[in-house]
Amino acid sequence: MANICNVCVLPMELCICQEIAKEQQRAVITTARRRYGKIVTIVEGIDDTAIDINKLAKTLKAKCAAGGTVKGRTIELQGEHKKKAAEVLKNNGYQVDVR
Ligand SMILES: [Zn+2]
Repeated sequence: MANICNVCVLPMELCICQEIAKEQQRAVITTARRRYGKIVTIVEGIDDTAIDINKLAKTLKAKCAAGGTVKGRTIELQGEHKKKAAEVLKNNGYQVDVR
């Protein structure tokens, strides 16, 4: 028997829950200054119950060529990557709010 999504009750290969979840979410991108004057780019507002935040962080890190960490529902990238992160998120179907 095929795997069935327990949210939309469609077979997993037809499941669009992740797509719907993205459209309903607004990722907020900000930057902050950390100790020793280091800039980090912060991506917030991702609902990790619907989105695989570790996978998203991996994509962002690869596209921005930066190190980063996931802290709860927040992704932190080392350096200033607002523009690139917004582009990556938009290309992945997210609503983006750059602040
Ligand atoms: Zn589904």
